[in-house]
Amino acid sequence: MDISVIVPLYNEEESLPELYAWIKRVMDEHKFSYEIIFVNDGSTDGSWGVIENLQKNGNGCVKGIKFRRNYGKSPALYCGFKKAEGDVVITMDADLQDSPDEIPELYRMITEDGYDLVSGYKQKRYDPLSKTIPTKLFNATARKVSGIHNLHDFNCGLKAYRKEVVKNIEVYGEMHRYIPYLAKNAGFKKIGEKVVHHQARKFGSTKFGGWNRFFNGYLDLISLWFLSSFGLKPMHVFGLLGSIMFFLGFIAVVIVGVDKLYALHSGQPYRLVTDSPYFYLALTTMIIGTQLFLAGFIGELVTRNAPERNNYQIEKEI
Ligand code: UDP
Ligand code: MG
Repeated sequence: MDISVIVPLYNEEESLPELYAWIKRVMDEHKFSYEIIFVNDGSTDGSWGVIENLQKNGNGCVKGIKFRRNYGKSPALYCGFKKAEGDVVITMDADLQDSPDEIPELYRMITEDGYDLVSGYKQKRYDPLSKTIPTKLFNATARKVSGIHNLHDFNCGLKAYRKEVVKNIEVYGEMHRYIPYLAKNAGFKKIGEKVVHHQARKFGSTKFGGWNRFFNGYLDLISLWFLSSFGLKPMHVFGLLGSIMFFLGFIAVVIVGVDKLYALHSGQPYRLVTDSPYFYLALTTMIIGTQLFLAGFIGELVTRNAPERNNYQIEKEI
């Protein structure tokens, strides 16, 4: 099969028929063999009914996954990726903001130009300023942290992947914003970009508004940076910090001890060790140092055991 199109969706019933017809038209025009995997992320509207209808009346290329509840876009993509069979996997938002007309060129860039991942770049965006400005900031940070300097738009929903890429990365939490970074960490180097058309949302409303998105986005970036640098060796960072702390504390203890002995010896007026600031320094740094060490050990244990991190409740699959 040439192409798998994965569409994560949450309450997008109005858009689905049009999206399906459009994708089908493009695929038929170019004679691609394809599948469309709709991942219904716990929609509370009639989205699943629409998908079932499309599946019944379609030509066998519509598939669906139905989550029992809303998990988020990343889990939806994760399950879609697991199911995908096409040589090239395309992800696309359900809200008709991304154009299926881009598919043939994306496909060509993967198969002929040898890209592992091509990310869409919405050079001209049709979103409110409250979205575009944070996005600019966010992309600048993501470029710096990830070291992928040629991407302008990490979070574009429209992306194309070589099949191996999606089978070898694990998108969870809200990591869909950083898939290029995940791919890079998994060893896929040829990551490119294609300017794509973007349209204003036709139906429904955005599911990623407000400040939450901003903070969560950054926190995710920090964890990702941490995971990729130390995820498999938490002891290296916590152990090092812990040792430094402990060492500083130890020096402070020596200072306090020597000071006390000296005072006793030279017959200076009687003084408590708690009068010395070094006492408190020693106390806090040694406690924090031990804590950091423990955090490192626990981190090591956790990285070795987390079998449930990708179990999602799938109610139905068609
Ligand atoms: N989406 C999803 N689960 C969620 C939130 C969003 O599957 O919990 C889907 C949504 O239906 C859409 C895509 O992710 O197909 C992008 O969402 P949206 O268009 O709201 O994001 P925006 O374009 O405003 O950034
Ligand atoms: Mg959208």
